[in-house]
Amino acid sequence: MGIEINRMQFLAGDLSGKQAAMRPPWALPEAAFVDRCTRCGDCIPACPDGLITEGRGRFPQMDFSRGGCDFCRECVVVCKPGALLPDEAGEQAPWRLKVTILHNCLSLNAVICRSCGEACDERAIRFQLELGGVARPVLDQEACTGCGACFAVCPISSIRISPVESQDQAA
Ligand code: SF4
Ligand code: SF4
Ligand code: SF4
Repeated sequence: MGIEINRMQFLAGDLSGKQAAMRPPWALPEAAFVDRCTRCGDCIPACPDGLITEGRGRFPQMDFSRGGCDFCRECVVVCKPGALLPDEAGEQAPWRLKVTILHNCLSLNAVICRSCGEACDERAIRFQLELGGVARPVLDQEACTGCGACFAVCPISSIRISPVESQDQAA
């Protein structure tokens, strides 16, 4: 039987379907998450931007092909089992996702495009002018929140977003 992958996995270049799913923000670590999540699906309609979809095993996962997460916490509020659980101090990062700009990026290939940088409210993607060439995108990993807003706007799917733990598989 062939491997089944969903649309987000395809767009993320995860053709093997082995990359860890991107859970909604403030999800518990994966093992604890799948233990705690009842797959009730309440977080899916709660997201005002429709970014949460039903993934493998009916567990929820993020779909950044629809836009970026603004961390409104509506999904957290409806998650009664506590599978999405920010710390009480509110200082915990919503997730550990890493953005990678792939080599086929237009600006890395002498074609002017700044779509990802324009979509990034955090100004985590800046364009560095090169002598005699097109400005190339430079990602500031520290400033990046992993919101996913840069993902859908890239005209040639050069942005990859993946859980930090699965970077080796995503490369
Ligand atoms: S924090 Fe808000 S925008 Fe982000 S996934 Fe949850 S409901 Fe959607
Ligand atoms: S609301 Fe919580 S328990 Fe229900 S599917 Fe979403 S993450 Fe799982
Ligand atoms: S995922 Fe990072 S680089 Fe992309 S728009 Fe959000 S903050 Fe900016």
